[in-house]
Amino acid sequence: MLSTNDFAPQGAPVALPGAGSQALYDFLQQYPRLMVLTGAGVSTECGIPDYRDTRGEWKRKPPVQHQAFMSSLATRQRYWARSLIGFRAIEEARPGPAHHALARLEALGHVTALVTQNVDGLHQRAGSRRVIDLHGRAEMVRCMGCGSQRMRYDLHAELAAINPSWLDLNAAVGPDGDADLDGLDFSTFRVLDCTRCGDGVLKPDVVFFGDNVPRARVDATFAALADADALLVVGSSLMVYSGYRFARQASRDGKPIACLNLGRTRADDLYALKVEAPVGSTLEQLVARL
Ligand SMILES: [Zn+2]
Repeated sequence: MLSTNDFAPQGAPVALPGAGSQALYDFLQQYPRLMVLTGAGVSTECGIPDYRDTRGEWKRKPPVQHQAFMSSLATRQRYWARSLIGFRAIEEARPGPAHHALARLEALGHVTALVTQNVDGLHQRAGSRRVIDLHGRAEMVRCMGCGSQRMRYDLHAELAAINPSWLDLNAAVGPDGDADLDGLDFSTFRVLDCTRCGDGVLKPDVVFFGDNVPRARVDATFAALADADALLVVGSSLMVYSGYRFARQASRDGKPIACLNLGRTRADDLYALKVEAPVGSTLEQLVARL
């Protein structure tokens, strides 16, 4: 069995222009079937902000917590009011070079599964088909009482109709459809419950911080990893355990891990190859070599 040490000497990350895509190309020649794990770094080039800086530290207030959202009406009022403004960034985003390059990589037969921590749906829109949305999809809303789903834009339209004075506010948009709207009396914002069961709490169909990824998705990801020659991490600091655990598992299984990310990650000591370069242009260069 190959160990990670067979591929590349450990050392300083590859950062020279062009050298990153060459190193990834060499990695792919040796390990042609990859499980790809992506994070916010593939979507920041599309105008969707992320939570962390290049050191992996929070660069804004941590996002809403699952328990607070479920137990507190005030939290939900603040969440949906901010969402009416911030979600526009996700609605208007289009796939970027990283999404298109990864879809091309899959079309060429190099991707067993593309596992994403993003909730923006941009991988699918770029043409990736073997996608596992680890943290769900922001464009859907689920009733936490009866489980029924609806489209988010539809709920937003209803919220806008009953909260007209909130529509013209401006605020910087944040990650996951959030916006930096603060200092307002959110108690006047009207939220909607599920119309099907009557009083179920409506929640974006995404895994909030403090909640767990559904078991079936985790199992599907472990199966895809077992089926792959190696793991490629793209645009993620892996600071959240839900993604980090797959790097740990790959390492335990002796599967080499390559990482393309600008900045520090939680798994830096596990990689056979670390490329610190812009993800979009580097992946474009990689695909152009194939
Ligand atoms: Zn319901």
